[in-house]
Amino acid sequence: MFNSRKFVFKVVAILLVLGLSPLGMQQANGAAPSAPQRQSSLLVENATVAVEFGKTITFAATLKDPIPNKQVSILFRGLDEKITRVETVAVGDDGSVKYTYDASQNFFPPFSWVVFWFQATLADGQTYTSSPITFQYNDNRFPWREASRANVTVHWYAGDDAFGTAALGAAGAGLLAMNEVIPVSLDTAINVYIYSNVDDLKGTLELGGESWAGGHANPELGVVLAAIAPGSPQQIEMEIEIPHEITHVMLYKALGENYAKQPAWLLEGIASMVELYPNPDYARALEIASESESLLSFEDLCASFPADAGNAFLAYAQSQSFVSFIRNTYGNAGLARLMDSYGDGFSCELGATNALGTPLSQLDTRWRETVLGQNVLGVAARNLSPFILLMALVLVVPIWGAIDLLRQRRKRGQQSE
Ligand SMILES: [Zn+2]
Repeated sequence: MFNSRKFVFKVVAILLVLGLSPLGMQQANGAAPSAPQRQSSLLVENATVAVEFGKTITFAATLKDPIPNKQVSILFRGLDEKITRVETVAVGDDGSVKYTYDASQNFFPPFSWVVFWFQATLADGQTYTSSPITFQYNDNRFPWREASRANVTVHWYAGDDAFGTAALGAAGAGLLAMNEVIPVSLDTAINVYIYSNVDDLKGTLELGGESWAGGHANPELGVVLAAIAPGSPQQIEMEIEIPHEITHVMLYKALGENYAKQPAWLLEGIASMVELYPNPDYARALEIASESESLLSFEDLCASFPADAGNAFLAYAQSQSFVSFIRNTYGNAGLARLMDSYGDGFSCELGATNALGTPLSQLDTRWRETVLGQNVLGVAARNLSPFILLMALVLVVPIWGAIDLLRQRRKRGQQSE
């Protein structure tokens, strides 16, 4: 259950720390309000934020120097938002202010960062602005536990210590698998939140104003959400969902604003390719669709995936197989050129021509002939799966050793550049 008093205390502690280094914070997140010339600082003490996830956010503080005589504005926005919300708040004689925001009508995404500050124009005509304070809008309805290795933290509330360790292992193995495809930044913090059931996760996303589709990643936040119940299938689910969603986060870090320019089949294909446990139903879905001539065209999978579950499943199966085919044919360098092309703004069809010398429609045909005509690669991938699974189970410690080594090498490389 949600313990609001404990949470408020925690936030206060965090805010006090943050409040000590407003300059660093401004540099880190670019959240500082722009500074007009006639602007002076407004001193704020005892700032607190009490979050009741999906319901309310209550801001409270004491304004010290100067104390605005009647009212002050509280300004706040998500760190990635362009629009700042502005509300007028009454000021008590002692400078105290309190404002409750209705988070059930105006959403912030779960686990996103929110920045707020105060501003007042006084009788002297000067505008006084406080230092910005940042906090995380966490889903605090669950008793989260956490465990970290390197740049990854997993959070869960059902399951024992071994559950958390297994999730960390799946995340680490996913990072290494991803690194085989595209070198990834291992300094990027990734937070994986594991709900124990789909309804909990769905509820969280709805309260955050987002829709649900299987696992979920907020790549720009470095946040991954998954629904995995403790129990016997947990290992397989972890090895599918966690690497997939982490790959979205890492791709976003690698591509930045070019992430949004990539075709859906390419992003989902890479993420599905990095899954550690090949989905045995994908091969079957491809076989059936191929025989009944109901395969989807990749041109139609550029902007988005189909909404209905059946075709969406087929879209994942196709994308995983298609991107594996491209990687087998053109190597990782080919995949990198493809992402560069789409990042440069090439159309879905011509991006492939520019990067690989073959338009998308022709690649599609070749894939149908080579992969679906013979099904050689599918068989090879399936034969490999027990080995990969075993590796991930046994090599949890070597995984993190390897990641540490990679990080050290990267750092040394950066220093010597
Ligand atoms: Zn995905």
